[in-house]
Amino acid sequence: MRRKFVLGNWKLNGSLQENERLFNALVTRLKSLRAADFAVCVPFTYLFQAQALLSSTNIAWGAQNASQFESGAYTSSISAKMIAEFDSKFVIIGHSERRTLSNESNQKAARRFARVVNAHLTPIYCVGETLEELEAGISANVVKNQILAITHGLDDDIFASAKKVNMVIAYEPVWAIGNGQAATSNQAQAMHLFIRNLIAKVDPGFAKTIRIIYGGSMTPANAFGLLSMPDVDGGLIGRCALSANEFSQICDIANQLSLCAESV
Ligand code: PEP
Repeated sequence: MRRKFVLGNWKLNGSLQENERLFNALVTRLKSLRAADFAVCVPFTYLFQAQALLSSTNIAWGAQNASQFESGAYTSSISAKMIAEFDSKFVIIGHSERRTLSNESNQKAARRFARVVNAHLTPIYCVGETLEELEAGISANVVKNQILAITHGLDDDIFASAKKVNMVIAYEPVWAIGNGQAATSNQAQAMHLFIRNLIAKVDPGFAKTIRIIYGGSMTPANAFGLLSMPDVDGGLIGRCALSANEFSQICDIANQLSLCAESV
């Protein structure tokens, strides 16, 4: 059984004071939810605070990107090993905002992915098509190429290590991010199954266990429909991750669905 996983992406938001309130509220609201997994990916500067306030809770933390380099003359970059020093567990890789704002290619995202895996952190590898690609009918091809960059574009030992750290794939249709227009449950399910089948071609056993989460305007109102789909193993949450109330409602739904699955 795959436990549901809800991950908040705080993006470029927060302050020490606001974070303290949000962390504390989340700790209180989520502490009794034991059937699903929860995490927040915060700006780098708040990893220390996350470590201080979330250690010994059921909420893990991580970062929103990592350098494709390990060290050296790369001003402003942050390496996966540095992120790991704060007891982080996750790093988002290939988010569409990074792909767009930094013109990040599949190959570059794959190199970052490899650094994260080598630092024994779990990559949340984001894939998804833009509106233009959706309208051109090439969504499957776009997502396939993004997946191939990590399954076939890296040394075999990286993918083997990625399995050991339980890599996660996030399907995030770019046209659904940040605008309140989530994919329908059936759209999400179809793409998640497609992704799982791609992974099955490389490793059928791993395809059964890998968590494929959905991101793009997930809210308490649509979470049940999306998370009930058989191949949707959780949510990557942007806007609603900044509200303790909305984020914890989504976590609660994920927890209930995991509990139901446990009892079957
Ligand atoms: C995201 O940016 O990863 C995301 C899913 O954002 P939102 O939930 O705001 O659409």
